[in-house]
Amino acid sequence: MIEHDVVIVGGGLAGSRAALEIVRTNPRLSVAVVAKTHPIRSHSVAAQGGIAATLKNVDDADHWEAHAFDTVKGSDYLADQDAVEILTREAPDVVIDLEHMGVLFSRLPDGRIAQRAFGGHSHRRTCYAADKTGHAILHELISNLMRHGVTIYDEWYVMRLILEEGQAKGLVMFRILDSQVEVVRAKAIMFATGGYGRVFNTTSNDYASTGDGLAMTAVAGLPLEDMEFVQFHPTGLYPVGVLISEAVRGEGAYLINSEGDRFMANYAPSRMELAPRDITSRAITREIRAGRGAHTDGSAGGPFVYLDLRHMGQEKIMSRVPFCWEEAHRLVGIDAVHEPIPIRPTVHYSMGGIPTDTDGRVRSGADGFVEGFFAAGEAACVSVHGANRLGSNSLLECVVYGRRTGAAIARYVESRKLPEVNEQHYIAQAQQQIQTLLDQPGDYRIDRVRQAFQDCMTEHCGVFRTEAVMRAGLEKLQQLQQQAQRIYLDDKQSLWNTEIIEALELQSVMIVGELILTGALQRQESRGAHYREDYPDRNDEQFLKHTLSYYSSAGIDIRYRPVSITLFQPQERRY
Ligand SMILES: Cc1cc2nc3c(=O)[nH]c(=O)nc-3n(C[C@H](O)[C@H](O)[C@H](O)COP(=O)(O)OP(=O)(O)OC[C@H]3O[C@@H](n4cnc5c(N)ncnc54)[C@H](O)[C@@H]3O)c2cc1C
Repeated sequence: MIEHDVVIVGGGLAGSRAALEIVRTNPRLSVAVVAKTHPIRSHSVAAQGGIAATLKNVDDADHWEAHAFDTVKGSDYLADQDAVEILTREAPDVVIDLEHMGVLFSRLPDGRIAQRAFGGHSHRRTCYAADKTGHAILHELISNLMRHGVTIYDEWYVMRLILEEGQAKGLVMFRILDSQVEVVRAKAIMFATGGYGRVFNTTSNDYASTGDGLAMTAVAGLPLEDMEFVQFHPTGLYPVGVLISEAVRGEGAYLINSEGDRFMANYAPSRMELAPRDITSRAITREIRAGRGAHTDGSAGGPFVYLDLRHMGQEKIMSRVPFCWEEAHRLVGIDAVHEPIPIRPTVHYSMGGIPTDTDGRVRSGADGFVEGFFAAGEAACVSVHGANRLGSNSLLECVVYGRRTGAAIARYVESRKLPEVNEQHYIAQAQQQIQTLLDQPGDYRIDRVRQAFQDCMTEHCGVFRTEAVMRAGLEKLQQLQQQAQRIYLDDKQSLWNTEIIEALELQSVMIVGELILTGALQRQESRGAHYREDYPDRNDEQFLKHTLSYYSSAGIDIRYRPVSITLFQPQERRY
């Protein structure tokens, strides 16, 4: 059996920052990072626009309290304010620490780190490396892990969390190269498995964002928090859905409809294109519904609106957002210097996830914690984003809470012994599960079921939601779950059998999808990214609380947990 003091699942920003903190704190600990991709191919590498911190390099009047207020208001008052305080107070320090590690941020003429405007932020505080910020940070973190001797299991798929008597003891993992199954035990397990964009048919996320960590946590009987809050990013490139960063609007681009109007004046007059994402995505969807979207031939009534950079000029476009120009050019043949880019909302980020405290300890319920289990990053819900995340706060969350969780783990494992795990039992179960997948005759192909499921989620749990539409979605989902039991695999080999991975990921996205739909049905109000046309107002009296969803094959049980309010009393949210 493989053994380590600590095993972290996920080599993105959260997992790698945590690993680094552990080995920096105690170099004698044996730390491993497991990832189903190579760690530097984690979705973090695709982050574009930047990381927020009140460095005050371009705006002296900025302050962490302003950052905290913007974050809480952006969250529609659902964020836990104690966690937001930590996020915003520690932000300058973690960014400087990244710079000391060697991250190449873009600069002001005097050499200090440059900062740009971002949606929902009242000051210019987003630090960036052109529009490739995630790339710059992740590469530096991973090379630091190698330098510090962290063991990396790349292209291993984690199939199961071993949880016994309220304690996380280890993992079951599958080597994609040759289908080998291994059990690993550790004093502490951390999930940093990222988001679940692939639950939907149009997303900015990579193919690996299938919510596996969330599904494994749910299947182990632990709750997930606030799953109904799914972020739609306003500017997904039409039709592919890949992201055109908010940095483009931060640098001055306009949103225009088929009539050429800057329609945000009607939705968020004080913030215009830099309103928070939930408001901007609804505005775009409303324009399209009202017939003011465009078709590719330029006529009205089509499925997208435009992001217009033309007034910015070639030099600014090429120096500040070169990657976005390149994406539009390469993927849809648009030269953004001369033509507006067709965009529409795309699924981007999961506000909910594995509930934790501010040390990354995973909650077992409204009170209480799971022994030996930690989480951070997009997979976790420490709830700094509440019902709607502000751009450039996610990389920040990964680094602040990755670091804190790493520090907490280093302390935790000091006094722990390696747990006992029945290796043969878990290996036999996993091998049986895979053999069943390979042997079953089956009637359905994986990609057909997955596509039908993603279409179902997009149609029934999108930007606008109603009870009737979601109930119909849940029924459809249940039928698709039955089909998913009867899939067949063409590839029966053990070498690089990616079909097995696709089959396991299909189970993950379907569990996550059911949790999203069920939480959304129960929340009879509109808050942040969760918009109910049948309950268009926020209802603090009944719903100023976090959802905790418990999964079982018999159905989903919904409970609630209070919100931590420290500095800012809930107010009406206007921009
Ligand atoms: C296109 C794009 C641009 C973005 N731009 C910004 C931005 O400018 N600013 C900002 O703040 N945020 C941005 N975000 C959001 C932000 O990048 C992510 O929320 C953040 O990087 C998530 O990091 P993470 O470490 O939690 O997970 P990820 O980086 O997604 O890493 C997840 C890891 O888990 C591993 N994993 C998952 N499941 C398994 C399994 N079953 N077995 C083994 N390994 C597994 C994966 O291999 C991977 O290593 C952007 C997101 C996207 C999609």
